[in-house]
Amino acid sequence: MILVTGGAGYIGSHYVLEERARHRDVLVLDDLSRGHREAVLDAPLVTANLNDRRALDELFTAHPIEAVVHFAAFTYVGESVAQPARYYRNNVAGTLTLLEAMRDHGVRVLVFSSSCATYGQPEYVPLDERHAQRPISPYGETKFATERMIEAFGNAYGLRYALLRYFNAAGADAEGRIGELHEPETHLIPLILQVASGRRESLQVFGTDYPTPDGTCIRDYIHVEDLVAAHSLALERLMGGAAQGIYNLGTENGHSVCDVIDAARRITGRRVRVEETARRPGDPARLVASAALARSELGWRPKHDLGDSVSSAWRWEQGRRYGAR
Ligand code: UDP
Repeated sequence: MILVTGGAGYIGSHYVLEERARHRDVLVLDDLSRGHREAVLDAPLVTANLNDRRALDELFTAHPIEAVVHFAAFTYVGESVAQPARYYRNNVAGTLTLLEAMRDHGVRVLVFSSSCATYGQPEYVPLDERHAQRPISPYGETKFATERMIEAFGNAYGLRYALLRYFNAAGADAEGRIGELHEPETHLIPLILQVASGRRESLQVFGTDYPTPDGTCIRDYIHVEDLVAAHSLALERLMGGAAQGIYNLGTENGHSVCDVIDAARRITGRRVRVEETARRPGDPARLVASAALARSELGWRPKHDLGDSVSSAWRWEQGRRYGAR
């Protein structure tokens, strides 16, 4: 059985759906502080916080957990600046509690959701896994600190682990059962689609004076189903005996904010009103992955492009089954 922390969140819920489609036994652990009960569908759910050691002990005692896929975390950069204690408590201390419980219950396999935010301002692009890690936000610091902690548990206690550094997760389940739903929403694609659907007046474009061809920031938007596939492959590799792996997960293609707006206009056939505003502090001009290692070691091949991400997110936006409207 696989324990999926944060399985009610955006990426975690898509992972649960995929593993269940493959008839894998999964158990979701989520405190539902940010996740959505509906996103779990009918998978088994334990509602508890990672820092609740007693709940973890009960869960590891009651279920034959072989591996943990750990998504649970707070993920807002701006909020992490205003409330760092909350981020360290939830992301770092929560993972420490989880790792100690895993160690004490003899669970030795972990797949961890990390982030390209651990790199900070890129010194070169595309970014490979050897790029220096100098995070520039408390959020990025929590992911970086957690990576180091996991490595130390690997060295000291024999934990086998994969650290998956996501670029920009995008898109939704092809059948529209689940999708991205953050409250408040801060991510580019859902915000554009909320403008297209008339739920929001306009999109603010954060900065048009970056050193990029159209002046807007470039990101690597990776479809959530491709991200999920990488977790399954990383887990298989660890279950096969691998000690560790660190992988960037991106398409290796960069798209500017203007490119994404154009794609959304084309796919939705709707007007998208934009407002050019100042840069958002801390946004690097260009973040694009080199995913060569995930390709060679995991055999990972992203199947979806930006158009697939926008069109599946649009289907979700139009038929959303949970969350306030
Ligand atoms: N962005 C924007 N307007 C918004 C939200 C985002 O122009 O309302 C830009 C942001 O500056 C970045 C890109 O869109 O260059 C992706 O931002 P998002 O917050 O989705 O992801 P991030 O790259 O920060 O993880």
